[in-house]
Amino acid sequence: MSSLKISSLTNSIIIKSLLLLIVSMLVIVMIGTYVFTQRQMKTTLKLSYDTNETQLQQLANTANNEMEQFASRLSLLAKTSEIQSMDKFAAAGYLKSFNISSLFISGESISLFDRNYNLICNNSMLGSAKISYPIEFNRISPHRPTISPWYRDSDGTPKRAFGVVVSDRAHGDGRLVSNFSIRRLWKFFSEYKVGQNGILIACNGQGEILYHPDMRTWLDGVHKISELGLGDMNIKQDQNNTVQFLTLENGTTYLINRTFNPTYDLGLIALQPKSEIDAQVSSVKHVSRIILYSSIIAILLVSLWQILIVCKPLNDLIDHISQITEGNLNIEKFNAKRSQDEIGRLAKVFNQMHEMIKRQIQELNNHREQLEKEVRERTYELEQANKKLDIISRTDELTQLPNRRDMHRTIEKEVDRASRLRKSFSIIFIDIDHFKDVNDTYGHAAGDAVLKAVASTIRSLLRKYDVLARYGGEEFLTLLPETELKDAAHVAERFRKQIENQTIYFGGREIKVTITLGVAQFDSSQGAEKCIQFADKALYEGKEQGRNRVIIWNEDIASKTETKPS
Ligand code: GH3
Ligand code: MG
Ligand code: MG
Repeated sequence: MSSLKISSLTNSIIIKSLLLLIVSMLVIVMIGTYVFTQRQMKTTLKLSYDTNETQLQQLANTANNEMEQFASRLSLLAKTSEIQSMDKFAAAGYLKSFNISSLFISGESISLFDRNYNLICNNSMLGSAKISYPIEFNRISPHRPTISPWYRDSDGTPKRAFGVVVSDRAHGDGRLVSNFSIRRLWKFFSEYKVGQNGILIACNGQGEILYHPDMRTWLDGVHKISELGLGDMNIKQDQNNTVQFLTLENGTTYLINRTFNPTYDLGLIALQPKSEIDAQVSSVKHVSRIILYSSIIAILLVSLWQILIVCKPLNDLIDHISQITEGNLNIEKFNAKRSQDEIGRLAKVFNQMHEMIKRQIQELNNHREQLEKEVRERTYELEQANKKLDIISRTDELTQLPNRRDMHRTIEKEVDRASRLRKSFSIIFIDIDHFKDVNDTYGHAAGDAVLKAVASTIRSLLRKYDVLARYGGEEFLTLLPETELKDAAHVAERFRKQIENQTIYFGGREIKVTITLGVAQFDSSQGAEKCIQFADKALYEGKEQGRNRVIIWNEDIASKTETKPS
């Protein structure tokens, strides 16, 4: 089996389908990831915004509670007898007492004034130094505490002055004024977390920063939130639940949540870095990417598996089939690894077909061999018959000697040979004398016996390469290759003597015959026909001279026959 070829892979339907599947899976997963990420981005953003919003509202409530408690404590203090006495010593002693001082933090003061804004006393340990409060005394309401705008006193800490009316019938209404330091809220602000690395900023309605985690930079004087890069944001305006982003001076983009309490003139801004929210989404992206990559790996593994389980065996089967179509029918049957699947079943059916074709071809071959054998046998028989026919056509039936036609062919061949070897040959023409009389005296059968006996005798006197043929009724022709005229005459004479001395027995009777012979030598200038003619003419001359003799062709006979018509 040949290995998997690249060309068969590139043309494979399965590979094309798998590629299409990979591409479509990639597109689907990528689009899915994009849509999912976008939705997740929105959800995550809204969730972060809502979480920050809830926490910010809780912080705002905490801050408001602090200020409210501060105001109520001031109102309660204004109702104590020590304060209502408006007595310089009694009130001062009270305000500096351990019980009261613990109610204030460092930097906060409380002062009691008479109705004409003359200081009666304060909680300062240094005496009765006048502490100024940016509050309009005439405006301080007897019903609820009056609060000044945010201001900064000598230590630079943002504060607000709270003023309440002290009702005293004896001395007239006084005023108890204290300042609320933003430091009270720092604890909550610094503990407050916006996401992982978010920032909380507190400001007043005018946008002046009251708190920033980087106190050294932003609380060393009056700074506005616009300096942070918050632009012309109006903290008093409601955010209306809209998700907003802003890039600050430090180059970082933040998700903004803000709230403002007009009663306490306190705005809170929570800034969470957008990167934190993106990081949550990016984890989703990460998961999507893992899904994408694992899908690709899964598809690739499936593809590989398909190549091994489908493409390779199919290609092997195709190679196997093409070997068979090229004529290699005796190839072993295809061995499918899994016999139960489609390819296994295909291979099984194919093997059965292969076996059937093999069987049928074998049968055809057997049949053909049988036919060929018969043809061979018939051809042989025919050849044998032809050979027999040929022999018969060339043989005289009575004497079994070559006939006249065959003798002519032999002479033609001898002419060729003689010219090739530059050698001559001679011919002896033989005729039985008075043969008619033999027939007439002893009968035709006796004549036949005489013909056979003469043929046999002459034949026995010849060399093996000499040829004797029955040329006519009682005429014979002898071809003597490579024989001169003189030698041929000797041979002829031997014939004559042998026949003359021979007695032929037939039907209890003795028959004696003689023969007359004409001898001629082949002359290439005159041809074979002429040579036979000369021998015949010499024979004729022998008959003329009285029979039972050998006559050699010579010029005398030639001149005689020219004058005498034959
Ligand atoms: P000559 O001495 O002049 O040759 O006289 P001849 O009688 O031999 O010559 P002729 O030609 O007159 O006679 C030949 C005879 O040979 C005539 C014919 O009947 C006979 N003959 C020819 N063929 C055969 C044959 O096959 N068998 C027999 N028995 N006789 C044959
Ligand atoms: Mg004759
Ligand atoms: Mg004769």
